[in-house]
Amino acid sequence: MRRVLRAAIAVLTLTGAGTVATGAPGHAALPGWGRPTVTTAAPQPGSPGLGDNYFPDYGNGGYDVEHYDVRLRYDPGADRLSGTTTILARATQDLSRFNLDFLLDVESVRVNGWAASTATEGAHELVVTPTRTITAGQQLTIVVRYAGVPSETLVNGYTGWTRTDDGALAVNEPESAWWWFPSNDHPLDKATYDISVSVPTGVEVISNGVQPRPPLAEAGNRTRWIWRTTSPTATYLAFLAIGQYDIVTDTAPNGQPVVNAYSTTLGELAPAARASIERTAEVVEWASGIFGEYPFEAQGGVAGPVDGITFALETQTRPVYGPGFWRRGANTSVVVHELAHQWFGDSVSVNGWRDIWLNEGFASYAEWLWSEEQGEGTAQELFDFTYASYPADSEFWQVPPGDPGPARIFDDAVYDRGAMALHQLRLAVGDDAFFAILPAWTAEHRYGNGTIAQFQALAERISGLDLTDLFTTWLFTAGRPDVSGSAARKASPPAEPKSWAKIREAHQLLAR
Ligand SMILES: [Zn+2]
Repeated sequence: MRRVLRAAIAVLTLTGAGTVATGAPGHAALPGWGRPTVTTAAPQPGSPGLGDNYFPDYGNGGYDVEHYDVRLRYDPGADRLSGTTTILARATQDLSRFNLDFLLDVESVRVNGWAASTATEGAHELVVTPTRTITAGQQLTIVVRYAGVPSETLVNGYTGWTRTDDGALAVNEPESAWWWFPSNDHPLDKATYDISVSVPTGVEVISNGVQPRPPLAEAGNRTRWIWRTTSPTATYLAFLAIGQYDIVTDTAPNGQPVVNAYSTTLGELAPAARASIERTAEVVEWASGIFGEYPFEAQGGVAGPVDGITFALETQTRPVYGPGFWRRGANTSVVVHELAHQWFGDSVSVNGWRDIWLNEGFASYAEWLWSEEQGEGTAQELFDFTYASYPADSEFWQVPPGDPGPARIFDDAVYDRGAMALHQLRLAVGDDAFFAILPAWTAEHRYGNGTIAQFQALAERISGLDLTDLFTTWLFTAGRPDVSGSAARKASPPAEPKSWAKIREAHQLLAR
């Protein structure tokens, strides 16, 4: 389903690429914190996009967001969402106007207290023209009041908001925020969040981070749920899960709060969901030993309802899992995958969506490392089996994970060949260097962004090797790379590792 939207957007951005490129010089080098632009000419409109290499109109130029205060009211019966989002931002240039990415009906926008005029443009742009011009470096408080029915708000026939029998899920990648809060919708502009939602009493609301206070009773038999995220968070990693949930709270070995939630619709799938997600704190502790200190303030997971999403997403501090992962019993592979993303994807985010391998290749390789740890097959055995499972003439080998194209950012190749590429790196540099590179990467780019080129440079610096050929072959060249001399070339096909079935199951639902 999402592939349709991405394909449509790719076409749109191709036709608009020239406009964006000439209208947004210099935005490729964002973010611009601490680097106020010197402007001598009249204030200009902020760019309608950040010039992303795959989705150039995603995000907006001219300002950086520090914080979103998203205060909502939701009625599951009508799928009606209304509320106010207050955005704290700073201008990075003199602005005559600027854009937000948003789809619901806007009642009013105020900028630093003054009413602003608004217009809609393109697929998801809200153009805000303030009464007073904005100067570079100025602090902005942007208050947007809005309402709408997100499940009926379509872009190219598609909504990223999932309405369910008992509520809704705002969980999607890369398009998710458009349907519930106005934003600068690109991982280059991270922010902290306060998210609160008023729902009829008896409905649960789960979101990112911690609960600074218990749910508050409100007039009209309603309850307001309050969540807070204090670490920088990309817009697509903020989420809502609204419906009937059993919530299980605990404390992790590192002292952090654990909040897990299970949809009551799961029925006979619930034990398998619990047997997987309740291992979250254990997996976080294990992963911290390999990837470096866990970057966030809370842990957890959400098992979504049977009529919700079909995939899983690494929503920050608390991934959301579709029900399909539990159909054949517990699956810790997907839990390991989504928790590894907390380092690779969430704390260190893509610089542009073309860098998706930095998310999916690493989260997939984490599953191989977990398999090794659990004694269910080594990474080498998984490499050999994965390599042999895709014949040389398979379409699979035609998608280079380092540049899969905007319609294929979640292709099998990004996951499986992506993990194979990391294994080849490990073989080339040796375990000592490989397990030094991973935490160095998460430390150097913590709460920021990274490119594949930067990762290669870091791997070369730590290993002392020129890795150009390896990266070119495994990430950027179509066709099945030769691995002559390795086990994969031996006469008999490699045995299936014990962990393979669960990893396969997870990837069949994750790769789309
Ligand atoms: Zn993933």
